[in-house]
Parts: sequence; C-alpha cells; structure tokens
Amino acid sequence: MLTIENTTKWFQLFSDEIIANKDYLSELDTPIGDGDHGNNMARGAEAIQELLKNQQFDTLSDLFKNVAMAFIKSVGGASGPLYGTAFIEMAKASKETSNPAELIATGLDGIKRRGASDVGAKTMIDVWTPALEVIKLNQLTVEKINADVEATKALVATKGRASYLGERSIGHIDPGSMSSGYLFETLLETGAL
Ligand code: ADP
Ligand code: MG
Ligand code: MG
Repeated sequence: MLTIENTTKWFQLFSDEIIANKDYLSELDTPIGDGDHGNNMARGAEAIQELLKNQQFDTLSDLFKNVAMAFIKSVGGASGPLYGTAFIEMAKASKETSNPAELIATGLDGIKRRGASDVGAKTMIDVWTPALEVIKLNQLTVEKINADVEATKALVATKGRASYLGERSIGHIDPGSMSSGYLFETLLETGAL
C-alpha cells in the first residue's frame, strides 16, 4: 500500500536517482532525440526536492497532486506533461485506493492518452506496461526492470522525436524508458510493494 510516508520516500529516491543520472539520460537522448532528457528530468527532480523540503501533505492525493504540478511547471519537453499526467491521474485515483498496481494502472492510462500512444512505440510506455504486469503479481525486480529498459533497443520508434529516425532508432535505449526504469526501481526500494 502506498502511504504519505513511503510515497514521499519514493519521490525522494526517484529525484535523487534522476539527478545522479542526469548526464546519462541526456546521452541516451542524443542519438535519437535532442539530448535534453536528463536536463529536463533533473529540473523536475529539483522541483520535487524543493517541494518535499518545504511542504507537508495531509493526504496521499495531495502529495501526488503537488508533485505533478511541480513537475509539469519545471520540466518542459514531452516528458513533463507525460509524467505530470501520470502523477495527476494517480492523485485522483489515490482518493479511492492506495493499491500500487491500481495507481500505476491509472498513471499508465494517463500517459497513453496524453501521448496518444501505446506499447511498442519505443516510449516509457514500454517500461510502465510490463512493470505494471509484474507489480500486480508482486514480482517486480530490478533485473526485470533493466531487461524491459534494454528491450526498448530493439524497437522502432513511432512516437516522439525518435520517430523522426524511423528504423535508425533501432539499437538505442529509449531515454524516457530509462527514467521510468528509475521510477520503478526506486518504488521497489521503498518497500511499499
Ligand atoms: P523531448 O522529446 O520533448 O525533448 P524528453 O527528451 O524530455 O522530451 O522526453 C523524451 C521521452 O518522452 C522519450 O524517450 C519517450 O519515452 C517519451 N515520449 C515521447 N513521446 C511520447 C508519447 N507520445 N507517448 C509516450 N511517451 C513519449
Ligand atoms: Mg529530448
Ligand atoms: Mg526537448
């Protein structure tokens, strides 16, 4: 079950991980994008850390909502509204449930809707979707997450900037899939699952 405590820890760990891997995320975005994914995400991560330092939250929903707003305001780029929408949907759903699988499912639906996308387009959806399946079974592992991130190499991008490259996007990890990999790794670390 997600609580204010473990979800605060989750966003703390996630933002630390993003900041620590800022250069790597931008490197991944260089051959198949515009080289800014790490910088975009790190701005969001800094905003989340600022928020967590300065504000107390009364409900889980309130926490997700504030994280979403901080993220959307500071990120820019495709990833801002995509993660932002996921967190907004999770804020709404967390009024009814604190089950991680149910919350991730609503977040994933939000990303799909916002990005007009689905599995196989070489986006973060290709990490969220299999992560959700194993979270439902209580079988999420770091190895599984890494394998799903790695598996985006084989895909042809059909959404986002990488789609401009068509077949030439093959052989490269999708940067948003890597940052989503950090999201799920840090969720696992919180012990909330
Ligand atoms: P930008 O492409 O605007 O520079 P970022 O580099 O921050 O934004 O984010 C790129 C990531 O966003 C991609 O690696 C991919 O995972 C994700 N992405 C892009 N377009 C979509 C989409 N339509 N649906 C889902 N995810 C997407
Ligand atoms: Mg980019
Ligand atoms: Mg950009």
